[in-house]
Amino acid sequence: MSTAEQQAELHDIRDAVASLCARFPGEYWRALDRDCAYPTAFVDELTQSGFLASLIPQEYGGSGLGLRQASAILREIHLQGCNAGACHAQMYTMGTLLKHGSQDQKQRWLPGIASGDIRLQAFGVTEPTSGSDTMALRTTAVRDGDEYVLNGQKIWTSRAEHSDYMIVLARTTPADQIRKKGEGLSVFMLDMRECPGLTIRPIRTMMNHATTEVFFDNVRVPAENLIGVADQGFRHILDGMNAERILIASECLGDAEWFIRKASDYATERKVFGRPIGQNQGVQFPIARAYAQLKAAQLVVERAAVMFDRGQKCGEEANIGKLLASEASWAAAEACVQTFGGFAFAEEYDVERKFRETRLYQVAPISSNLILTYLAEHVLGMPRSY
Ligand SMILES: Cc1cc2nc3c(=O)[nH]c(=O)nc-3n(C[C@H](O)[C@H](O)[C@H](O)COP(=O)(O)OP(=O)(O)OC[C@H]3O[C@@H](n4cnc5c(N)ncnc54)[C@H](O)[C@@H]3O)c2cc1C
Repeated sequence: MSTAEQQAELHDIRDAVASLCARFPGEYWRALDRDCAYPTAFVDELTQSGFLASLIPQEYGGSGLGLRQASAILREIHLQGCNAGACHAQMYTMGTLLKHGSQDQKQRWLPGIASGDIRLQAFGVTEPTSGSDTMALRTTAVRDGDEYVLNGQKIWTSRAEHSDYMIVLARTTPADQIRKKGEGLSVFMLDMRECPGLTIRPIRTMMNHATTEVFFDNVRVPAENLIGVADQGFRHILDGMNAERILIASECLGDAEWFIRKASDYATERKVFGRPIGQNQGVQFPIARAYAQLKAAQLVVERAAVMFDRGQKCGEEANIGKLLASEASWAAAEACVQTFGGFAFAEEYDVERKFRETRLYQVAPISSNLILTYLAEHVLGMPRSY
């Protein structure tokens, strides 16, 4: 495909996403936000439209698109004032299965994930005591005949109540018995639909995110649901991190653009002291600066996506893209709030809702400090700091 054809394809995708999003205006999100309710209608439409199956190869019923196109989908959702946080995992969590699953496992699950019959929205890695230190997680999976028995707890397992399966990372070899650093954890596809011993408790958060804590009390998972190689689960999960970072960064780009458009329009219309507030440099400079941050972040994120699609190593670009994009969206959010003045705090403008939503990205799915530690150690060659 020529560059012009690729651009036209991205344009068409964004147009189609924009018209879907137009059916889910601010009122829709505000009502859900008030009740901490899940955007089922929105997620259903995105699923039926095939957007959430964009990264699944055509042989399994997906559209076989690349990360550039998937990024364009998520970015547009956020640019339109919607939030993909309710369903973005359906797009990329299957990456671990696609890359490390056996042929049988892929045939068994991927077509259902592509059609939406199987919801794979939940990803259980983080635990209360281990936090960013994934290798310190304590949930165990002990082999018992044809099954593994899970015991332990996860936290911040988003969308667990709206998912059929969860990708779970658990310890299969005790930490003091592993041969090599980074080993001893394994990945499982856990069917949560009929799952004795599994308890899911919602956590109320500052934004509407359907996140939960999950408890495993002798939960049995068939050994055939082990994905990839036992004890190599940490590496399998790490393999999917670049895609996740690029996709989340794309959501940040969409948020940043939403805030900048909203702020510049308001600054142009709102008159105080007999002239538009946007005529004051004190109002326009923060918006213009956030725009510059957005454009810089966009260049890195797009480059990371292109490199990913070409199969090139893109850890540096994916991490920098996520860092810069999450900072750009926050700078834009700040500028937008300041521009709206008191009206930023009124629900009806959606600014306060998006402001709460976009703050997450400097913490999850990975915090900015942990990105900096990656760059310091793996790109700049400095000593590991932790
Ligand atoms: C709304 C929400 C949804 C989430 N969804 C999921 C999900 O679906 N699945 C999942 O598995 N997880 C999920 N997470 C968890 C998320 O990935 C973690 O919150 C994030 O990785 C940070 O871990 P932590 O909260 O334990 O912070 P901690 O690891 O306790 O860190 C706290 C602070 O200390 C800093 N810090 C820690 N160690 C260092 C160090 N060595 N050097 C410098 N700074 C350091 C961190 O940067 C951070 O700012 C979600 C979190 C939230 C809030």
